[in-house]
Amino acid sequence: MTAVGTRPGVERRFGPYGGRYVPETLIPALDELEREWLTAREDPAFGSELDALLRDYAGRPTPLYLARRFSEAAGRPVYLKREDLLLTGAHKINNALGQALLAKRMGKRRVIAETGAGQHGVATATACALLGLECVVYMGTEDMRRQRPNVERMRLLGTEVAGVDAGARTLKEAVSAAIRDWVASVEETHYVIGSAVGPAPFPAIVRDLNRPIGDEARAQVLEAAGRLPDRVIACVGGGSNAIGTFAAFLADDEVELVGVEAGGDGVASGRHGAPLTTGARGILHGSMSAVLQDVDGQIVEAHSVSAGLDYPGSGPEHAHLRDTGRVRYEAVDDADAVAAFRRFSKLEGIIPALEPAHALAWVLANPAGELDLVTLSGRGDKDLSEVLALD
Ligand SMILES: *Cc1c(COP(=O)(O)O)cnc(C)c1O
Repeated sequence: MTAVGTRPGVERRFGPYGGRYVPETLIPALDELEREWLTAREDPAFGSELDALLRDYAGRPTPLYLARRFSEAAGRPVYLKREDLLLTGAHKINNALGQALLAKRMGKRRVIAETGAGQHGVATATACALLGLECVVYMGTEDMRRQRPNVERMRLLGTEVAGVDAGARTLKEAVSAAIRDWVASVEETHYVIGSAVGPAPFPAIVRDLNRPIGDEARAQVLEAAGRLPDRVIACVGGGSNAIGTFAAFLADDEVELVGVEAGGDGVASGRHGAPLTTGARGILHGSMSAVLQDVDGQIVEAHSVSAGLDYPGSGPEHAHLRDTGRVRYEAVDDADAVAAFRRFSKLEGIIPALEPAHALAWVLANPAGELDLVTLSGRGDKDLSEVLALD
């Protein structure tokens, strides 16, 4: 297994999407990051150090598991890629470890990140503890109140959680604070973006770092089933677990790729997190992509029962894959995702995160083909109180 991609160059655009819609002061840092990533991913020493950490520390390769009872309910075999078994309980550690290692390689001693529900903050804090990097995570004070255990986890790991007391006190304000910090500290600081979003080269880096999900799964399903799946399904928030999965199957024309977004209260209600299913083209967090916005171009808040899908944008590569027709994007509502969360837990003895529960619900609702592969991006312990509160 090799952890990093092998494409020539680092894409700045995906069709019309992507780019760098950022203050000019950040362009040299983005250029440096692009250069460093190009050399790092071709450097066998970097690759083997990352591979060793992913294997011995985080738990790669993750298993591919044939979910027998869920398959019966779905009416065909469903294989799960078990990212829920990784350290910190989700795929986010793939990206956090890779970017922290890259920061170290670039000679940056300080790492910043922003977090909404706290999952990316915990993954980044974990990687920084491992590598001995100073870490500051920006978080809205309302999110800090709602996600107390993750705040405590980050502090235990030696990270400074910087509360942001502006606006709605949630993710949007935390992103702005992190960008302000980066503009002022870019010489010694690396900004770990947590999904396949942001200005180039972040979407390409985050995809490459999650590519082991798809590469492993493709080899594992060939080994286990003797064939490729008919469909590969993953949930899409910013889109990192999905693009890491899809990347390995893009050239397999016979494999249908499905990205499942947050339908929230229903796409027709306007309260959802499904920019790829419904959204116009716009600019958010430094790149052009599908975003939720009003007629004036102002960003509209997203709504989802799952914190990880509660984001008004999506990765630029996904917007392009939608336009080219290679990937199909559909939304699953909160109620169906929660029902799948409960049903899957009883059928398999695995509590899925609410995010991939959207993908599981889509599989139950869309019987077709003979073999499905679903990326189980994380475990659902973090979501218990959210689900129980619905009772
Ligand atoms: C954060 C998160 C997501 C959404 O992020 P992507 O970048 O779209 O993958 C999905 N699943 C889990 C378990 C998460 O923690």
